[in-house]
Amino acid sequence: MNLARHFWNRLSQDADRVLFEHLAPSGEITWRQSRGALLTEASLWMAALRAAGIRPGDRVALSLGKATGLVTAHLAVLGVGAGVVPLNPALSAVETEAVLRQAEVKLAITTSSTVSRAPEIVAAVNGPWWVAAQAEEPDEVPPPTIALAEVLAGYRPGDEPSIGPDDALALLLFTSGTTGQPKGVGLTHHNIGANLQALLVETWQMSAEDRLLHALPPHHLHGLGLGLYGTLYVGNAAVLLDRFDPLVVLTALAQHRISVFMGVPTMYHRMTERMAAGAKDPPLIGGGLSPLRVFISGSAPLSPETFRRFEEQSGFRIVERYGLTETAINTSNPLDAERRPGTVGLALPGVEVGIFDPHTQQPLSPGETGEIWVRGPHVFSGYWNNPEVTAAAFCDDWFRTGDLGVLSTDAYLSINGRMKELIIVGGTNVTPGEVEAVLETQAGVRECAVAGVPDADLGEKVAAFIVPQADQAAASLEADLRKRAEQDLAPYKRPRLYRFLAEIPRNSMGKVERGKLKDLGAAAPKPEE
Ligand code: AMP
Repeated sequence: MNLARHFWNRLSQDADRVLFEHLAPSGEITWRQSRGALLTEASLWMAALRAAGIRPGDRVALSLGKATGLVTAHLAVLGVGAGVVPLNPALSAVETEAVLRQAEVKLAITTSSTVSRAPEIVAAVNGPWWVAAQAEEPDEVPPPTIALAEVLAGYRPGDEPSIGPDDALALLLFTSGTTGQPKGVGLTHHNIGANLQALLVETWQMSAEDRLLHALPPHHLHGLGLGLYGTLYVGNAAVLLDRFDPLVVLTALAQHRISVFMGVPTMYHRMTERMAAGAKDPPLIGGGLSPLRVFISGSAPLSPETFRRFEEQSGFRIVERYGLTETAINTSNPLDAERRPGTVGLALPGVEVGIFDPHTQQPLSPGETGEIWVRGPHVFSGYWNNPEVTAAAFCDDWFRTGDLGVLSTDAYLSINGRMKELIIVGGTNVTPGEVEAVLETQAGVRECAVAGVPDADLGEKVAAFIVPQADQAAASLEADLRKRAEQDLAPYKRPRLYRFLAEIPRNSMGKVERGKLKDLGAAAPKPEE
């Protein structure tokens, strides 16, 4: 499937219907785009891209936040047959430059803050750099960049999309790199289209009647591939928020006739706290006439405790799903059957999930823990210009995820953590997740995360990082946690070190940055053991 063709077909029907709305934290809608307006704008941008020499197969970098031009830019780049390289604004200038050079980007379209933050990165693009000045930004753009409005002034809408092969590059994403160097992951039109059909249409039953509340960053697979491309694919409406704030989201859910919310576990944790603190002010989720039907979580493990508390507060059982940049989404809890907390559900239609012994590469049976391998039409074909890493990541056509997991006899997948995050205590494996699941149920714990830190005797020991509830004294909480661990965990799994923090270090997708925890643990004063 070619995404440009699919998006164009969708957007051509019912042209006046609003597809995207942008919601300011104040509750005001700052812009709206109808399907027809988007297509007209995209065809104008395509004329400018073609005139700038962008051809099928080229790469164009985008970093536009959630400005009006965001969706137009994606449509136009795909429409001329080029691949999109989304830039993560959190990357440093050196990291951004590395991405632009690795991807051999021929043109970049960004906000002026991207350029003013790091003017030196402009030279890393082998071609023009267009700047879309935002409301609060100056109109003047530093040379050699060009104001987008000036570029577009010379063209008229009318260009039709180029329909390239299904295996053409659509998105070139750089993995978040919470461990190691970021790697380029190229997803084709076919990878993304197959995944959106299996996930959004067949599993989550999304339709043009849905309204999505989008509070995710627009440059990862989750917010971009599922949130934005999913909206273009299905033709539902989406309300875009620049960033997540629990109160803004809870208010918007009730006030903007939202039917679907996609988030990361940290968002659910914060919404749960807000609901507990705010009783019924403002009128939160639900109400008899509300179209709200599904809350989805992914990108990091959703703890059974957060699942339970969210259900208690809102009445909704979160649908947890599991994916990677390399494969898009592999599994999801079902809509119409049991949503099992602590699991990421069942393989999507057309996707195979297997558990393998990572050393012997032999398949394991239900109930046995091993490495999760996946295959199907959604799996990327290799790391960008990196055949060695690609060869190590595949076994025949199975992609080795690097995650540890176990399948139940009725095919629900549970994830036990990343293989790289395993803590090896005197030769015995401990996964952070199994320890976190025990500690987080202790009263007085607001959040917790676990990591291995070096130990002269055992090689590694388990360290627990705890964010206490506001009124909770650390000393008594530590005593309670030690007692709880003695009761519920085998001796080698019990934390030897407790550190109390104001917050758990996480990246923008809510993934715990365990490297930072290890550093904190290694720097901790020697605990009393
Ligand atoms: P990324 O490619 O940055 O999206 O990271 C993918 C990794 O996130 C996976 O390999 C998992 O380790 C983790 N992940 C994603 N979704 C889940 C989930 N629902 N539960 C546990 N881990 C998850």
